Amino acid sequence: KGMQVTDDRINAIDIRNAVKRYGDFTALKTISLSIRDNEFFTLLGPSGCGKTTLLRMIAGFEDVTEGEIFLFGDEIEKLPPNRRPINTVFQNYALFPMMTILDNVAFGLEMKGESKAAARKRAGEMLELVQLSQFSSRKPSQLSGGQQQRVALARALAPSPKVLLLDEPLSALDLKLRQAMRFELKELQRETGITFIFVTHDQEEALTMSDRIAVMSAGELQQLGDARDIYERPSNMFVADFIGETNLLEVEVDAVEAGRAQVHLGGGHQLSVDAVEGVGKGAKVHMSVRPERLYLSEGAEGPESLAGTVRANMFVGTDIQTLLDLDGGVQISVRSSNSERGNKRVFEPGQIAHINMEQGAARLLAD
Ligand code: ATP
Repeated sequence: KGMQVTDDRINAIDIRNAVKRYGDFTALKTISLSIRDNEFFTLLGPSGCGKTTLLRMIAGFEDVTEGEIFLFGDEIEKLPPNRRPINTVFQNYALFPMMTILDNVAFGLEMKGESKAAARKRAGEMLELVQLSQFSSRKPSQLSGGQQQRVALARALAPSPKVLLLDEPLSALDLKLRQAMRFELKELQRETGITFIFVTHDQEEALTMSDRIAVMSAGELQQLGDARDIYERPSNMFVADFIGETNLLEVEVDAVEAGRAQVHLGGGHQLSVDAVEGVGKGAKVHMSVRPERLYLSEGAEGPESLAGTVRANMFVGTDIQTLLDLDGGVQISVRSSNSERGNKRVFEPGQIAHINMEQGAARLLAD
């Protein structure tokens, strides 16, 4: 007990059957997951799904009702936060307003018993790492939001924690800065080699930065995988719907053979898709098809092309989104790239168009 080895290395964090209850309310229902050493790991889910609670349990700010947490093989769930080699970066930065930037970063090191000179030297190096050396004698109020966030990062990284927890650290920044900070955070993780556990409800943030993502909903882990797994192979309705945009079509399975499932849509139209575990003949399930994996043509391109009537076109800047009505009350959204290369013919409302699926575009969902 206490050791779990993957790829011959001990995991940074192992969460075993962790449950969190607040009185009668269960915020987390038996979560088990492992976070690898040197990984950029993201907990992703809508508000209230329990991701912050899980992060706070790892940090030690919340008790664990049941279960265990291991850090590099050592059981830690009963240790107070300051005895865990873990640091947290909060959404609101929590910098000391009266101290200079350098002192803000040095403070925690001095609290841990480092000499003033050693703490300041290390703080200077950390400010260099986040490219803020020229501001070291300023006060936090004299920096922009993005710069303050980088100070908070430097401060949290200064004592070389084994794991860095980041609780929606970009949410106070404007969109442009948030996007720029994604690259910086990712680079910082790579340069330091420290395991990052990042909490967000922003799926784009999760997809762009993470080595792996745990998607959560209502206190449960829904899927664990890298960005492509989660986006292209969602394991259920929740994940397919929460990540990106998708068409969720009701289908009935007519046959399953040799890894392929024959299904039909509400209007009777037949399609062949990859079979998935747990979905057999006679099952009524949903099929997820990303709008950008569909394209329109005037005539049918094959037996699986679907005829639809264009209801509306929406200009989305990078794309044009077309909504179509099919037989049987089925509605489908198609996205075409707004580029010279990608721009296929635009169909006007009322016109008939054929919808074609790229290879592997449709994904059956087990629930
Ligand atoms: P958000 O993105 O809004 O912070 P979250 O996914 O981080 O959401 P949590 O903060 O982990 O969600 O909360 C999970 C659930 O636990 C919520 O329903 C919340 O109301 C509940 N909860 C959190 N803290 C407490 C508490 N101290 N007492 C009772 N219920 C709590």
